[in-house]
Amino acid sequence: MNFEYSESLQQLLRKVDDFMEKHIYPIEKDYQEYVEAPEHLWKVYPGMEDLKTKARAEGLWNLFLPKEYGALSPGLTNLEYALIAEKLGKVIWASEVLNCSAPDTGNMEVLSKYGSPEQQERWLKPLMEGKIRSAFLMTEPRVASSDATNIETSIVRDGDEYVINGRKWWSSGAMHPDCSIYIVMGKTDPSAPRHSQQSMILVPADTEGVKIIRPLSTFGYLDSPVGHAEIDLSDVRIPASHLILGEGRGFEIAQGRLGPGRIHHCMRLIGCAQRSLELMCKRVSEREAFGRYIKDFSSIRQDIARSRCDIEQARLLTLSAADKIDRHGSAGAKDLIAMIKIVAPTMTCNVVDRAIQAYGGMGMSSDTPLASYYSYARTIRLADGPDEVHMYQLGRNTVKQVLKNN
Ligand SMILES: Cc1cc2nc3c(=O)[nH]c(=O)nc-3n(C[C@H](O)[C@H](O)[C@H](O)COP(=O)(O)OP(=O)(O)OC[C@H]3O[C@@H](n4cnc5c(N)ncnc54)[C@H](O)[C@@H]3O)c2cc1C
Repeated sequence: MNFEYSESLQQLLRKVDDFMEKHIYPIEKDYQEYVEAPEHLWKVYPGMEDLKTKARAEGLWNLFLPKEYGALSPGLTNLEYALIAEKLGKVIWASEVLNCSAPDTGNMEVLSKYGSPEQQERWLKPLMEGKIRSAFLMTEPRVASSDATNIETSIVRDGDEYVINGRKWWSSGAMHPDCSIYIVMGKTDPSAPRHSQQSMILVPADTEGVKIIRPLSTFGYLDSPVGHAEIDLSDVRIPASHLILGEGRGFEIAQGRLGPGRIHHCMRLIGCAQRSLELMCKRVSEREAFGRYIKDFSSIRQDIARSRCDIEQARLLTLSAADKIDRHGSAGAKDLIAMIKIVAPTMTCNVVDRAIQAYGGMGMSSDTPLASYYSYARTIRLADGPDEVHMYQLGRNTVKQVLKNN
């Protein structure tokens, strides 16, 4: 891997830093207070549109998408975008300002790679312009969804339409007032081979039969205005042309969706961990206990040193996975992708936990981003596949490779 970044990438990284310094950090507190106020539940921060206009004017827009998939993207490699994702991760909502936030990024990738020209015109274009938002509906309350072959939602052909029935939950983004399209995973043929039963279909949020049951909270956070919804789908009728790629191709699409998305999540988490370390260092340098600055206790120094090592290890591993995707595709990088998904969320939980401890009571409050970082990092130990599932697969692959080579 080459760590000498091109002049144009260095310029872009500086531009992102400048944007964060000028437009994001100064309103971080204001944003947090706005979205946490009960009267603003599910309302978008009033300055958001203006921020997006500024980002777009500076060319900081859709940076995550490779050029071959979209004219509106500058065409960065995964390795290049990973460096930007770390910077954006330092403020959890900053990615949205640059139209680079999950789950829209994954959904845009799906539509770019697998969508028909009609689907791209109707849904991808407004998503890439930041005019609408989207959700990805795979997980179901009634089955263990970490095994996606368990999904029960039915998608049944009826003439020129499909009829969908099922219950979904943890549909991130579905509470957002601008969320107008869902990608729904379900079964078109339960009798087909195990990985060919599933399909994905585009469901406009305002279709009859779609009902939001409730928003779910994580550690009490509703994550307004994005939210995570439980959604009922009852006799939802969708034109057959809304099916993505073809019947039985759902698993293939799900696999294709997750490689770069995991790099983005992990690098954003590394941004959270890095900022937690920076905040921790400042805090312990300002406060005194038992006659000395907190930074001078050896247990605190060890926590700082250990955190720095943990972050750097996870960063290098994740950049290495991004580089491998660029050179060998998501399938070729699957072991490294599993490794980062196992390592980065737990590492971030640990670093944030140390920072919370060093902050004292304030660390638990919303006066710092630490508590929300912890909630995010803890979520990613489950979302996009729980740790154990990645270990189960990585362990199996490792044994196979060792036996093959000996
Ligand atoms: C905040 C948040 C946002 C989310 N956003 C989305 C979203 O936008 N769209 C979406 O579709 N889903 C989303 N999810 C759901 C997430 O992807 C699932 O929760 C996850 O895949 C696990 O599925 P499950 O909850 O059904 O757990 P289960 O499948 O019931 O698994 C429970 C536990 O069983 C254990 N387990 C499972 N398999 C193995 C194994 N092979 N070896 C050892 N142990 C194992 C693990 O400990 C696992 O955590 C989100 C979840 C959260 C918390």
